[in-house]
Amino acid sequence: MSIRRNLILALAAFSVLIAAVFLGSGTMAYAGGHVVCIDPGHQGKGDSTPEPIGPGSGTKKARVAGGTRGTTTGIPEYQLTLAVGQLLKNELTARGYTVVMTRESNNVNISNAERAQLATNAGAEISVRLHANGSTNAAVNGALCLAPSAANPYVASLAPGSQLLSSKVLSGYCAATGIANKGVQVNDTMTGINWCTVPVTILEMGFMTNPSDDTNMANPDFQVKMAKGIADGIDAYFAK
Ligand SMILES: [Zn+2]
Repeated sequence: MSIRRNLILALAAFSVLIAAVFLGSGTMAYAGGHVVCIDPGHQGKGDSTPEPIGPGSGTKKARVAGGTRGTTTGIPEYQLTLAVGQLLKNELTARGYTVVMTRESNNVNISNAERAQLATNAGAEISVRLHANGSTNAAVNGALCLAPSAANPYVASLAPGSQLLSSKVLSGYCAATGIANKGVQVNDTMTGINWCTVPVTILEMGFMTNPSDDTNMANPDFQVKMAKGIADGIDAYFAK
């Protein structure tokens, strides 16, 4: 009798466990369990040591450039990209994504090629790289995305997916923030794109040399909108 009762109790406990596993996976199913790499551009200190701009390339560029800085706020680009990157991580995690960050501190030294390889090794399906722009003309403003062209010598096969990802992320971002949409541009000189093995976009979130873009992007409430807009674009990409 007691063996039977123990068996029933064990079966009941097992059912609860199975139900919990199914309920737990329910939130994952919302985003299809997709894995996204976020690369907050730059780091506390640039590293001018050269590295090849693509696999097997004789052309080299600095491992990590220093980045730009807000001319009105004084905020460095590496600080802005990390702030938005962490908000984006929270937003995507809440939507059921698995997020891989290339960095969560400013005190790191990870090259652009290494960031691309990190996304591959973590099993990311896409890579979203966050940057902000600079110009000698303070009036220039707006956001744009960079993607490889179909003639890229390293990642031509990633061009269609990367351009689609760029277009969706930029639309979501500009709709949520009201920042001007400067369109998707192709670029085959970016180390962090050329070493990628999955669709990739560089979002230039705005111009830190433009007083309006710079002031907006430095505002924590505005940064929440930025992160939600990028997440909307990622949702739209996976819903393609
Ligand atoms: Zn940058």
